[in-house]
Amino acid sequence: MITANQRFEKRDLLVLWHPCTQMKDHETSAIIPIKKAHGVWLEDMDGNHYLDAISSWWVNLFGHANPHINAALKDQIDTLEHVIFAGFTHEPAIQLAEKLVELSPEGLVRCFYADNGSAAVEVALKMSFHYWRNKGYTQKTKFITLENSYHGETLGALAVGNVPLYKETYAPLLMDVITVPGPDCYYRETGESWFDYSVRRFSLMEETLQRYADSACAVIIEPLIQCAGQMRMYDPIYLTLLRAACDKYQVHLIADEIAVGFGRTGTLFACEQADISPDFMCLSKGLTGGYLPLSAVLTTDAIYQAFYDDYQKLTAFLHSHSYTGNALACRAGVATLDIFQQQPILENNKRLAAIMSRLVVRFNEHLHIAEVRQTGMVVAIELVKNKYTKEPYPWQERRGQKVYQYALSKGVLLRPLGNVIYFMPPYVITEEQLIMLVEVAFDAINQAIKD
Ligand code: PMP
Repeated sequence: MITANQRFEKRDLLVLWHPCTQMKDHETSAIIPIKKAHGVWLEDMDGNHYLDAISSWWVNLFGHANPHINAALKDQIDTLEHVIFAGFTHEPAIQLAEKLVELSPEGLVRCFYADNGSAAVEVALKMSFHYWRNKGYTQKTKFITLENSYHGETLGALAVGNVPLYKETYAPLLMDVITVPGPDCYYRETGESWFDYSVRRFSLMEETLQRYADSACAVIIEPLIQCAGQMRMYDPIYLTLLRAACDKYQVHLIADEIAVGFGRTGTLFACEQADISPDFMCLSKGLTGGYLPLSAVLTTDAIYQAFYDDYQKLTAFLHSHSYTGNALACRAGVATLDIFQQQPILENNKRLAAIMSRLVVRFNEHLHIAEVRQTGMVVAIELVKNKYTKEPYPWQERRGQKVYQYALSKGVLLRPLGNVIYFMPPYVITEEQLIMLVEVAFDAINQAIKD
C-alpha cells in the first residue's frame, strides 16, 4: 500500500525542481510533503511530525501558524492584496517602513522594498554605485567582500559572495570583486580570543580599504555570523573598526542582516552589538515572521538626497520589482514587529540561548567535534575527522547528510551546512523541545561518524 507521503512525493518528482538540491538524491532519500505546521512542528501527509530546528531556512521567528500574524493576514486579504507601488502606496507599507526606521540603527531613515534577500542585496549594490556616480565619483565601481561570505544567488549577489560551492560554476558570469581574508574565529590561534583575532584580521581589511578607496563603492558584510558560510562567527569589534575605516576612506558599509536580523544574534539587529549604523541595511527572511517573501533596504538621508532632483537630471533610482511593497507581505511584517514591541522577545531569547548553551556543553568533549560556537540564538557544531588538527571529513563522504537523514527519522529537521550542524530555532521553542533537539542531534552525529 502506498502512503499519502509517497503519493505526493511521486507527483512532486514528476514536475518539480527543488532549490539547492541534487534531484538525483531523491532516488534514495524521500522528499517530505508537508500538510500543515504549527509552532515549531511540521506535519507530513502521513501524520509524522518534525521539529523545525532551522526555522525553515532561517525565516520563521514566532512559529508556524502564529495566531497574531494569521489574524493580521486574514484581515488584510479582504482589504488589499497588492497594488502597483510606483505612484501608489498603502497603509501596511507605510506602517512597516515607519516601524523599521524607528527600530533600526540611527540614521537609517529610508526604506526601499524588494521581494527577497538577493534582490535586496542587488538594490544595495546598485544604490551604492549609483550614489557615487550621482556625486561625480565615476571611478568608484568596485565592491569589497569577505572570504566565506554569502549574499544570495542572483548574479550580483553571487559575485559579492564567496562560498565556492555556489559561486565557482558561475565565475565567468560574475563581476570582479575585491575579496579580503575574513575574521572567521574558527581559525584563531589556541588561546586567542575572538576579540583579539577579529582585531588582528581587521588589519587586512584596513589595508584593502586604503588601497582601493578611490575605486571602491562599498564593503558588504554579514554582521557577526557568516551563516551560509558554515555559521562562522566573529567579534563585534570587527564591525566597529570597519565602520570607522569606511568613514575614513569614504566607502559605504552595506550590512546584510538578511539572516542575522530580527533577534537571531541576541539584539534586534546584529549591528547594535558594535554600536554602528551602516549606510545600507538589507533585511528579509524574518521580516515577515517567515510568512511571505519581502525584503527591505534601509538607508540614510544623505544617500536618498543624492538621487532627489528634477527628473531631467536622470539621477533617479529606476529599479523595480513587480511585487515591490506587496500589501500582504508588509502586513505580515507589521504583525511581526508588533510581537517584538508587545512581548519581551529578546529577554526570552536570552533565556533560550542560555539553555542551548548549557545543553551543548557535552558536544565539546566529543572526539569528532572541533568547535561548538554560539551567538545568541544560533549554535553551530563543527564535525571533523580529527579534533586536534581540525582536519575535516572529506566533503564527498557527506556526513552532514547522514545527520540530516537520521535526525529526520527521529522527528527533527536539521539541515547541516556541509559538516556543520547548527540550530537556529523559532523563538517559540520550549526547553523540553530544545532538550529533544539536542539529544537527537547528538545521536545523529554519532550515527554519522560510524565507519
Ligand atoms: N544574504 C544572506 C546573509 C543570506 O543568508 C541569504 C539567504 N540565505 C541571502 C542574502 C539571500 O536571500 P534570499 O534567499 O531570500 O534570496
